[in-house]
Amino acid sequence: MIAGPCSAESEQQVLDTAHRIAATGKAQVFRAGIWKPRTRPGTFEGIGEAGLPWLARVKKETGLLTMVEVATAGHVEAALKSGMDMLWIGARTTPNPFSVQGIADALRGVDVPVFVKNPINPDLQLWIGALERLQRSGLRRLAAIHRGFSWFDHTPYRNSPMWEFPIRLKAAFPDLELIGDPSHIGGDRTLLPGIAQHALDLGFSGLMIEVHVDPDFARSDADQQLTPQAFEEMIRGLTFRQAQPTVGMRDRLAELRGLIDRIDEEIAHKMAARMELAARIGDHKRAHQVAIMQPARWEWIMTRLLHMAPDLDLSEGFVREFMDAVLRESIRRQTMEGAVTAPGPTAGSQATDGEGLDQG
Ligand code: PEP
Ligand code: MN
Repeated sequence: MIAGPCSAESEQQVLDTAHRIAATGKAQVFRAGIWKPRTRPGTFEGIGEAGLPWLARVKKETGLLTMVEVATAGHVEAALKSGMDMLWIGARTTPNPFSVQGIADALRGVDVPVFVKNPINPDLQLWIGALERLQRSGLRRLAAIHRGFSWFDHTPYRNSPMWEFPIRLKAAFPDLELIGDPSHIGGDRTLLPGIAQHALDLGFSGLMIEVHVDPDFARSDADQQLTPQAFEEMIRGLTFRQAQPTVGMRDRLAELRGLIDRIDEEIAHKMAARMELAARIGDHKRAHQVAIMQPARWEWIMTRLLHMAPDLDLSEGFVREFMDAVLRESIRRQTMEGAVTAPGPTAGSQATDGEGLDQG
């Protein structure tokens, strides 16, 4: 369990937070960002190297291990010199091969645990690539942190969890430990327990939680940080599943099947959401007397997915067959709703002939 403020702000804030976290007995590692990758300049960009002695004090006084985010070779050198126990690579750094390579080069021959956050955009290859660069530098103690993905659509989350990505990463690296970061997924402290529990249910090995002595006055990520007390209560409320058998004992087949079952559940939920949208489109068209048949839209959907297929290692035939089934079900949902609410056969006067039906 990793806990600590988004940013180190002052020596007192760091030490107060650390002592109160240590007193909960619920965390082993203390995190704090000192170099903060902020979206806009002019906001608080971290206290910098001045924060390293504060973290060294945390370790000495509380016994918690310490962990900072590094984005450059210079950060790595400074962090190691100050005795930081672990490092993490942030979501804005992971997708940049130059930055990751610089960090990997600075870490060559150093045996320090490095945690790699997913890239902000949902691209599994970038996440894998960053881990591979570190592996090639000889780093063996690697883990992945899932902090959700930036997504164009509105979701209840600051960063959409898209759980299928950490699951696919785990399938590619079976021995890699996954750490959930509900704070950055949720972006809102009320959402944390549900996200944290979901991560544990999936079999994640641990959590990274942002904890601040006075969250409302935090200089970054104020909405998502917990007080030490709220952190303790949340951890106490979580259900931890029985510890996994050691890596060597794991039943690989059962493990992979478990991952597949989770993905199937995700697909079912996504399909339900898609069909719900299709039904709404059906209502909307009916209200505006627009024909259900929209072959150009059909064509657009199929062409776009066929274009994505090679990169995803999906065959054209599979994508066609799968999307045909999805689109047929979509049409059924639109007509089904029509049967309930349509005023009569005159609605949608350009009525369909059954071909190239709209699919939402
Ligand atoms: C952080 O952990 O405070 C942070 C900057 O996270 P991310 O890289 O996930 O945005
Ligand atoms: Mn943060």
